[in-house]
Amino acid sequence: MFDYRFVTLLGATLVFAPLSVLFIYASGLGPGLFPLYGLIFLWCDYRREAEAHVIFLFMVTTAGLVLAAAAAPHRIVLAIEILGMWGLVWALGLHHKRGADILREARSEMAGLASSIRDDESELTRLRAYQANASVQIGLRRDLTETARSLGSTLDGREVHVRLNGILAARFPGSRVRIQAWAAHDPLLELAMKSGTVAAVKDTAADSRFASAPGLDFRSGMAAPLKVMRQSAGFVKVESDAPGAFGSQEVQALDLITTMASLSLENIRLYETVQEQATHDALTGLFSHRAFQSRLHEELLRAGRSQTPVSFVLGDVDHFKTYNDRYGHQAGDFLLRAVAAILASFARPVDFPARYGGEEFCLVLPSVTLAEALDLTERIRSRVQAEVFVFQGSKTGATMSFGVSSFPHDATTSSQIVRVADERLYRAKSGGRNRVVGV
Ligand code: GH3
Ligand code: MG
Ligand code: MG
Repeated sequence: MFDYRFVTLLGATLVFAPLSVLFIYASGLGPGLFPLYGLIFLWCDYRREAEAHVIFLFMVTTAGLVLAAAAAPHRIVLAIEILGMWGLVWALGLHHKRGADILREARSEMAGLASSIRDDESELTRLRAYQANASVQIGLRRDLTETARSLGSTLDGREVHVRLNGILAARFPGSRVRIQAWAAHDPLLELAMKSGTVAAVKDTAADSRFASAPGLDFRSGMAAPLKVMRQSAGFVKVESDAPGAFGSQEVQALDLITTMASLSLENIRLYETVQEQATHDALTGLFSHRAFQSRLHEELLRAGRSQTPVSFVLGDVDHFKTYNDRYGHQAGDFLLRAVAAILASFARPVDFPARYGGEEFCLVLPSVTLAEALDLTERIRSRVQAEVFVFQGSKTGATMSFGVSSFPHDATTSSQIVRVADERLYRAKSGGRNRVVGV
């Protein structure tokens, strides 16, 4: 009902009025009662009404002066008391000023603390974002290490495709993964082909490049080329039915994974090339001398265990030096390739045709007796004799001599079987060439 200020002033007036009445009617009590005015100031101070001090100080001073004029004997006491009242108000003022200063200081300290709390909070948010990003990167690195280990531990290109498919399906759950060849009219593959790296589409329904694409059955997707020796080796596609499924992190992951798969395929290709070079003769494509040696050794061991025959044919082009001299070295090379093809055409899948060296060829024939081998070699010889070798328009002919030996009929070790065939070849040469010797 009454506001705070009203109650304060009423309280002060209730002290001031009876005291002032007492002053008027019992002026002798004046100086003795005067300190009670101090209650007004303390009351006003307690109620935090600074202007009330001023009003009542003025009134108390006036009352004091009036009293001093009426009661001359106490004038000095009254003057001191009036000054005391002023001093009290001044002291209260000082006290409040100090309080206000302390409050201001505390407030500014609090504002400083609040701002440093805000700074700490924003630093914490930044650290949390950094931590989230770091854990994504750590996850990606762990996956990539696994990927490198998985893709790098096979020497089979098809297995790389199977593993790549599994890795991508695990990396992009809820998406369709395809490893496919080039397909015309596929805008995503065209983009990947053109850029040579990962191409991505956020929403095919909103992208004009995909407006006329036939049979589009995804909303967002990524495509990356697989490359082996800088040549295209197919494409990887990851598709989703939802738009915006792939952001920059997904694009980066696909890029790294397909690069690893490309490197693995490239390693396999290099390994196969090295293997091919180590086991095959570059000119004729037949097996090399080294490969032949180890195969002959293996076949003889197997034949020894299973008590089955193995035959060995050693052939040499007759007068090849003269052939080279007459038609040139290139024609000689051509003849060697043609003779090698004839030899290979007579070989079964289990046989092992090889270039023994220079213009000498050999054939390992598992499970073939000496008589069968002699029959086969005779057919090879007559085929070479009948063949017309046409090189750069020139028709040429050639003949070959052969020595044939057999396990266990002639020899039991690989060096023996070769030596016997070599001796028989020598005899075929000395006997007039273009013939097969098997005894
Ligand atoms: P023979 O009937 O006694 O076997 O006589 P030949 O001339 O065939 O035998 P010889 O060993 O004297 O000559 C073999 C020749 O084969 C000599 C060499 O230049 C040639 N030659 C060896 N390797 C190659 C090759 O890779 N390409 C060509 N064009 N010639 C080769
Ligand atoms: Mg020779
Ligand atoms: Mg020769």
